[in-house]
Amino acid sequence: MDINEQITRFQTMAEADPNNELGHYSLGKALLEANRPEEAADSLERVLQLNGRYSKAYELLAAAQVRMSQEAAAIGTLKKGYVVAAERGDVMPKEAMAKTLLELGQQLPEVDTAVAGDSDTSGSTSGDGTFQCRRCGQAESRMEEAPFKGDLGAQVYAKICTRCWQEWVGMGTKVINELGLPLADPKAQEMYDQHMSEFLQL
Ligand SMILES: [Zn+2]
Repeated sequence: MDINEQITRFQTMAEADPNNELGHYSLGKALLEANRPEEAADSLERVLQLNGRYSKAYELLAAAQVRMSQEAAAIGTLKKGYVVAAERGDVMPKEAMAKTLLELGQQLPEVDTAVAGDSDTSGSTSGDGTFQCRRCGQAESRMEEAPFKGDLGAQVYAKICTRCWQEWVGMGTKVINELGLPLADPKAQEMYDQHMSEFLQL
């Protein structure tokens, strides 16, 4: 599927379900890839309105703003995104945003080291035995077992709460329908898994 075809499909997905953060995120990412930063920025801002904890969306929004020569806006986005990524323990977006901030001659924002130290990639269990979900950051109920087999299933079980998983199941059905994915095709399965990882921010 070429980039313009992807853009068309993600546009359909974002329009059909305006509160679907994944549709806007995928659209923004594809628009940035197609070097359409103005439109990409609109989509990514929408993602952050829907979910202010989506660290990767800050990274991409800042990249779009840099391409539009909106340096001051990019710095603001990066500083907010850096703190969110540090708090969530999202190592890769955090490092990417730190690099860009330094390139723009900025200092890195202070982060609460107690929170930032919790940078392991799994969901954590606090003292009273409640499970903290990596995606929503809430102490939510944990799944009884991995939702499917394999490494990805184990990651989902380790990091994601029942509520976020159910949200994805609904979203995943939309992804299959909107993108017309034939899941018997290994490439389609790969794309589905990629969307799942992005939605759940694994
Ligand atoms: Zn959750």
